[in-house]
Amino acid sequence: MPLDLDKIDDLNKTLFIHIQLLNVSRPSFIWNYFGHLYKNARKALDLDRIYCKVCFENIKEEYPDANFSSVRRQIGTYSAISGTGNMRNHLLAMHQITEAQAIKKTNKHIVSMFARNRDITSSSQLNEKHGHQLPLMCCKDLLSFSIVENKGFQDFLICNKIVNTKYDIPSRTTLSPLNLNKIYNACVDKTKEQIKLSTNYPTITCDA
Ligand SMILES: [Zn+2]
Repeated sequence: MPLDLDKIDDLNKTLFIHIQLLNVSRPSFIWNYFGHLYKNARKALDLDRIYCKVCFENIKEEYPDANFSSVRRQIGTYSAISGTGNMRNHLLAMHQITEAQAIKKTNKHIVSMFARNRDITSSSQLNEKHGHQLPLMCCKDLLSFSIVENKGFQDFLICNKIVNTKYDIPSRTTLSPLNLNKIYNACVDKTKEQIKLSTNYPTITCDA
């Protein structure tokens, strides 16, 4: 039996929406914005529903001392077992948030490293782009940086006209430490941003 929302008489300022990223390879972007309602880190008030954190944070700021039940109709609320389509629509309609924007916002640095910029023509710009993309690929797939010296990989890049000769492929030392450090810094910045937006007691796992 789902909890009666009108019985949640806690003050808004004492509650929060806990964003919990799903442990799946590609969780929908909506899970950056929807979560269960919590009173403290251990006590979920309502596991039957998921709430829009954007709505709730706005309401909480405006009415910190109001009861949750008095404002709950102004908060996007969905059954915990409903599909993500409605939540996606809510984000778009109520907050003008789309998947592309969400990615831009959270992965700004990394996306710019991956960006397909069709204006890039000069070989130095191409080298720079490959120099960013290759270490990112190595990090994501746990590959050794020495892949750039593998004949098969070099042939693949040359056959597909990604580079003209093997000398256009960034060297190991360009990949690491030079560009690896840039990726590290981008990831640290991104993590800091996420922690800033999180609850009082965030937990972090490094296996996602
Ligand atoms: Zn909302």
